Amino acid sequence: MSIQEDIQQLQKELAHHAYLYYVKDAPIISDYDYDVLYRKLVELETAHPEYIVPTSPTQRVGAKVEGSFEKVVHGQRMLSLSNVFDDAEVEQFGVRCEKELGHAPQYVVELKIDGLAVNLHYENGLFVRAVTRGDGRVGEDVTANVKTIQSIPLIIDNAPPFIEIRGEAYMPHKEFKRINEEREEAGLQTFVNPRNAAAGSLRQQDPAITASRNLDFFAYAIGSSEGSNIHTQQELLEQLEAFKFHVNPHYKVCQSIAEVVEHIHYWDVERHNLPYDTDGMVIKVNDFEDQETLGTTAKDPKWATAFKYPPEEVETIVKDITINVGRTGVLTPTAELESVFVSGTNVSRATLHNEDFIKEKDIRIGDTVRIHKAAEIIPEVISVVVDKRKSDSVPYEMPNACPVCESPTVRREGEVAIYCSNEHCPAVEKEGIIHFASRDAMNIDGLGPSIVEALVTNHRIETVVDLYHLKEEDITSLERMGKKSAQNLLKAIDDSKQRGLGRVLFGLGIRLIGAKAGQTIAKYFTSIDSLMNATIDELTNIDEIGPTMAKSLVEYFGNERNRQLIEGLRHAGVRLEEEVQEAAGNELEGQIIVLTGKLTSMGRSEAGAILEAHGAKVTGSVSKKTTLVIAGDDAGSKLTKAEQLGIPVMDEQGLLDLIKDF
Ligand code: NAD
Repeated sequence: MSIQEDIQQLQKELAHHAYLYYVKDAPIISDYDYDVLYRKLVELETAHPEYIVPTSPTQRVGAKVEGSFEKVVHGQRMLSLSNVFDDAEVEQFGVRCEKELGHAPQYVVELKIDGLAVNLHYENGLFVRAVTRGDGRVGEDVTANVKTIQSIPLIIDNAPPFIEIRGEAYMPHKEFKRINEEREEAGLQTFVNPRNAAAGSLRQQDPAITASRNLDFFAYAIGSSEGSNIHTQQELLEQLEAFKFHVNPHYKVCQSIAEVVEHIHYWDVERHNLPYDTDGMVIKVNDFEDQETLGTTAKDPKWATAFKYPPEEVETIVKDITINVGRTGVLTPTAELESVFVSGTNVSRATLHNEDFIKEKDIRIGDTVRIHKAAEIIPEVISVVVDKRKSDSVPYEMPNACPVCESPTVRREGEVAIYCSNEHCPAVEKEGIIHFASRDAMNIDGLGPSIVEALVTNHRIETVVDLYHLKEEDITSLERMGKKSAQNLLKAIDDSKQRGLGRVLFGLGIRLIGAKAGQTIAKYFTSIDSLMNATIDELTNIDEIGPTMAKSLVEYFGNERNRQLIEGLRHAGVRLEEEVQEAAGNELEGQIIVLTGKLTSMGRSEAGAILEAHGAKVTGSVSKKTTLVIAGDDAGSKLTKAEQLGIPVMDEQGLLDLIKDF
């Protein structure tokens, strides 16, 4: 191939990946692989500028805007960032800035949050519009969806007549994990990573769906602004904080490029403890005058660059593929791996999601694969190292029969999941009971997976209703269950009768109804009887319930077997109403609290809910802004960090004293 053909080929390939990434939110290669290809193209185009065309991926930001949302032209262009990959390249960036400026500038180094850039318009201090970055010049109007992000202020004080506030909308790890688990159970395609999940969530036609995804936002830039009086990036971040935006607290003003490098090294390790994804660090020249002198290229500012951390990917072997049957009957394949160390822990299993995932990557038993951790926590197979494949390997086929009850398996139209066709499959019943007993549902202390498994296998229970008819001897007849444990368990089951309708709704495992939706629906209808007879229109009257969730509820309550189950719970004395609580006080307004370690009197989520109900903000990581850390038993790095930062720490007893008068 000639150089020109090479360049054209790369331009075409990268444009295709950019389309899949930006428009479809479904990349098929890793960001690292994309960056490597991109760099190759930049090098070839630099050597042969005659082959650069305006449509080359190196000449444009993002990809062509193709969505169905209204198009909006940005007040000031939204650029991308150039990349650097190692210390030497960071130093070169410093040398270039210094040379062009004639002095050594100050830098601000910020975390590079892996989400998507959004431009917020405020007119006379009022939030009026939110636009995606799009191709940098024109973006999509996603106002209704962005409005669901709770941390974005709808009014800002002392604002100029018009201002564009820019930042990153992102999905926290906890949400990513929860949503993917729910999607897997519901037979839907899971999201590849939190960035794509966030992008997909912002481009929903139904804002109720965006709301249910609990996105968050960090502000880091100002676009057009009338009469702004800010001179540095540091002042800008302080101004954004004064406007009451979330500003990522981990930025640092550095006096030299050596300090920048040191800060980057520190975050290479520390970033794995953050509750959201970062894909690098952004280095910005602090002074706006310096920024202006340095200027921009067609695509990115010359006064900033992004350091990209190398991906943490390792190779291992797929020893086996096992199948788990979940509570909705979905068969989920898991790769049993030769144990390997990645991003801080040993990994020996990785979900393979569904049949399509296995087919697309052609993952086979015996294959050598590259794995990484998605969202820092979820081991995932990236690709197969085909060169290392054994000659006798055969493609993997999902089973035709359920591995638990041997009923035939089915794949429903439009879904990626394969289901067990038996509604009464013991695996489905068992997983349903485990879910019902779980902490965010009926919170039955002591009723974990192994006891449920034993009770089901010994024919003591078949459905959740049977839990409420268990006798002491049913439990003592199980291995390792004495009289005392049995009594404790029976008491925990009895106590759960009072949890209320919201938790029951979540516990029933109705498709697409998570813990939060359960509470919202329960508060709206207050009793199961009015809910069971509700129409789709009545259900969608609730702000956070969209048509798909409403349909799922109507289908659930339309099923005779489900109605019988609910009657069974009612007869057993389970409370199927929800009290509408008087609004709690605001005693903890302004407090930013972190809960860490193990609490014995209640779960952390329960404690968090109480604190939030009284005005506190409960966050996942300790920073300068944290006002109080509540540390239970075995508290680890968060406690150490609080002590280092001099933040007040309280133990569990302190917490109980604090909330006892609320
Ligand atoms: P980028 O992600 O490398 O950098 C620019 C973006 O960084 C900004 O638009 C903003 O959204 C974000 N950002 C986060 N924190 C920031 C902060 N503190 N300050 C300023 N900006 C911040 O550039 P890009 O143009 O958005 O995307 C290019 C990257 O996307 C590639 O390097 C690649 O990793 C990825 N990509 C991957 C594929 C794929 O197929 N896997 C395809 C296309 C692009």
